[in-house]
Amino acid sequence: MNFKLIKKDNNSAARACEITTGHSVIKTPVFMPVATRAAIRAMTLSDLQSIGFDIILSNTYHLYMRPGMDVIAAAGGLHNFMNYHGSFLTDSGGFQVFSLSNLCKVRDDGVDFNSHLDGSKHFFTPEKVLDIQRIIGSDIMMVLDQCSDYPIEKAQARAAMERTIDWAKKSARYYKETFDTESQACFAIIQGSVYSDLRKECAERLAELDLPGYAIGGLSVGEPKELYREITEYLLPFMPYDRPRYMMGVGSPMEILFAIKQGVDMFDCVMPTRIARNGTLYTSQGRVNIKASQYEKDFTSLDPLCDCYVCKNFTKAYLRHIFKAGEIASLIYNTYHNLYFMKTFMDEIRTSILSDTFNETYCKWSKVFASE
Ligand SMILES: [Zn+2]
Repeated sequence: MNFKLIKKDNNSAARACEITTGHSVIKTPVFMPVATRAAIRAMTLSDLQSIGFDIILSNTYHLYMRPGMDVIAAAGGLHNFMNYHGSFLTDSGGFQVFSLSNLCKVRDDGVDFNSHLDGSKHFFTPEKVLDIQRIIGSDIMMVLDQCSDYPIEKAQARAAMERTIDWAKKSARYYKETFDTESQACFAIIQGSVYSDLRKECAERLAELDLPGYAIGGLSVGEPKELYREITEYLLPFMPYDRPRYMMGVGSPMEILFAIKQGVDMFDCVMPTRIARNGTLYTSQGRVNIKASQYEKDFTSLDPLCDCYVCKNFTKAYLRHIFKAGEIASLIYNTYHNLYFMKTFMDEIRTSILSDTFNETYCKWSKVFASE
């Protein structure tokens, strides 16, 4: 993986970069759609490719459980299995172990858990989750970390941070000794909950590991928006400037924009696709709840400024009707539009950074999403 800073905004810390993997050139800031189980819900691969995403995310835990690593290995990795030849970023599986599995028990050397599917016993170590991502063939792999719930006492947040650093050290050693580091990158994850001193310490100690990229984990886990912003603004200057910076699990347009302003490059979240399936759509005029009765006879386009297939062809009244009728096409169209929105939103932000008009773009969208 190669990382290149193309342009820093003159009036903020926002930046436009290029990340080159063996499979694609990723222009940042970038939003990565989430193909949890090797598919994006309600999306075909050709729809996804027509929007133009160069990188998508998939979940190690889910792939490990089903179809299992023997199937992925026999397919020759996830790129071949899915027939997607852009870049993949995979998480470590840790977040799902902590949130989904039963009887999860954290030990110093890893985490014991039972599958949420069949109750079978498993043990993830920092080395094992990298081995799984080696089989998947991820262009960007994430280390195993311990994400804290919110709220959490400081002593517990520190313990989780110390374990996260210890696991990151083991991961860095294993990665550098056993991987082809050119074809697979490995990112560390900064934890520390909402305690700024812990966040700073974690960022500085992880930076010493000299890994190809750094992520912010454990935000957007239920804390107030103000705290998310405070921690993000405080933390960014302590993250390595010459590496990609990835904010995990944040998908609200305004929180993405705020993080970009502080210098974050990469984002992923299931939110744009999840809310689409519930009938909530992002538009140039803000959120639209397509279920609302006001659209019953509204024969205008969903978003007159959107060039997507859905906005070019269907009215709000029709989209409302097929949603209420429970048609599968409703899930497909809504998802397509929201992902198209996210792609054009990120492209617009990048263009504004390149032309030093980022602040104007920031102000424009702040007004559109003022109520969020
Ligand atoms: Zn559209």
